[in-house]
Amino acid sequence: MPASIASMTKEFTTPTNDTLRHTRALSSLCVKELSFREGKYHWRMLLVWNPQQPKGAFWYLPHDNENVAFDSALYATRTYGGGFLSVISNDERLFGGQDPNRNFGTTAAHTRVCSEQKYPAPLYVAHVFKVIDAFRERSYPYLALHTNSNGYTGNGGEGHISMLQSSSTVLSYPAHAIRQGQRLGLSDEDSLIFIASTTRTPNLAKIKRFNALGINVKYEWVNANRNDCSMSNYVVLTLGSSAYINIEVEHGDSDTQKAIIDKVLSLY
Ligand SMILES: [Zn+2]
Repeated sequence: MPASIASMTKEFTTPTNDTLRHTRALSSLCVKELSFREGKYHWRMLLVWNPQQPKGAFWYLPHDNENVAFDSALYATRTYGGGFLSVISNDERLFGGQDPNRNFGTTAAHTRVCSEQKYPAPLYVAHVFKVIDAFRERSYPYLALHTNSNGYTGNGGEGHISMLQSSSTVLSYPAHAIRQGQRLGLSDEDSLIFIASTTRTPNLAKIKRFNALGINVKYEWVNANRNDCSMSNYVVLTLGSSAYINIEVEHGDSDTQKAIIDKVLSLY
């Protein structure tokens, strides 16, 4: 275990549905719990890494209801080394009412702009990135895994993401003719990666590399005035980096998420 995070972790003793589903796979990996208080929140996160190769691709999983993301992170950790950090929240998307992927604001000024962050969270941000920095091989981007609902109709929000939807700040770059339906693989409207940066026009050469592998890309044009306190916005605005990739598939589409992981990591 990297010395920089030893004091932040403890033995993982209370199994979750995710860990119970994977008792055997986890037995060959290192598993710890990260827990800390900030304001009214008593955060619990599962930290998993590959003891054979602790430095590697490292994934953040903010949403505990997205079970396939957990399965995929485990696959990636066993296959490529590195590891992942996943929020433990009773299989729910929110943690005590706070969306963990809208909690990357450290000051009152951030929270004022970010409608979905309830309180500034400097400790949350520091802990999450201390863990990421301890395991992430520098050649890899900041990595996140999510799943989303079929299609894009619904109440909006992160659960309803689709290649068929675009806005002036989130642009779609499909690799295929996009198909609508349940878990249709790489051409499904819900199978995509998110990248982000501060320029209105994205790095088209970068997008082309992903499209050539069959990966649909959505590009988020990030700006401090539109900060939503998501991880991507934090990486772009505060760390000053465009090295962020979130791999999204429809809920339940484990095969496609693993396939995109293989393709994305082949580029690094
Ligand atoms: Zn999510």
